[in-house]
Amino acid sequence: MIEITLLGTGSPIPDPNRAGPATLIRAGGQVFLVDCGRGVLQRAAAVGVGAAGLSALLLTHLHSDHIAELGDLLITSWVTNFAPDPAPLQVIGPPGTAQTVEATLKAFGHDIGYRIAHHADLNAPPPIEVHEYTDGPVWDRDGVTIRVAPTDHRPVAPTIGFRVESGPQDSKTSVVLAGDTVPCASLDALAAGADALVHTVIRKDLIANVPQQRFQDICDYHSSVQEAAATAARAGVATLVLTHYVPALVPGQEEQWRALAATEFNGQIELGDDLHRIEVRARQ
Ligand SMILES: [Zn+2]
Ligand SMILES: [Zn+2]
Repeated sequence: MIEITLLGTGSPIPDPNRAGPATLIRAGGQVFLVDCGRGVLQRAAAVGVGAAGLSALLLTHLHSDHIAELGDLLITSWVTNFAPDPAPLQVIGPPGTAQTVEATLKAFGHDIGYRIAHHADLNAPPPIEVHEYTDGPVWDRDGVTIRVAPTDHRPVAPTIGFRVESGPQDSKTSVVLAGDTVPCASLDALAAGADALVHTVIRKDLIANVPQQRFQDICDYHSSVQEAAATAARAGVATLVLTHYVPALVPGQEEQWRALAATEFNGQIELGDDLHRIEVRARQ
């Protein structure tokens, strides 16, 4: 079984009820945070997960809404890890991730210095290992494997999607996290036959009416609800999980969003508020 928790279903526009993009994946006793949008650690705390308890941070891309709380995450995972010789935080993302992590640590350089000066048991900056990938296997530990493939969110590039698999060889459970992308062949291949696909979506039918060009621009590098659903259908996934709602999903309009997805996909469709949780099991 793999458990998906939508920690943050929001977007770059601050919303009083939705944290920024972040999804928690629990598989085989390991805990993966996919993207770290605004408010992520508060949402993670709500489901009993602390920054120091993460097996790895997986980043789909380096847009601000997906990494807004990287600094908080790096510092908090460091100061709340009480192991005498803590294992480095594993960060997996596209090329550019190492530079972003390094610059973030530099931005928090004063803080890091204060804490090393003040606490006898903190003697070095946060231990972090960054791994940059665009394609192929990225994780194989205790029965959980992860691979990535390129997505298409241009001009944001490179961007990647993740496929997490867990369980015995003959009945593996698989969950794919697409991130922000337009439909593309490499995502179709990554998602092929998965038990669940988590996809960010925007309502192009609504955004197209917003008078500011800057809003209309976002239509050209995101999938609409229908496009995400068509990707799920082509890949033959069992469950489509929608998140990163633009504009914010208004309570009571869930069925409207679900109906749009159902025009292209006849499997199970999941959507909802922050902390919505889905248990994914391998198909028999
Ligand atoms: Zn993006
Ligand atoms: Zn985004």
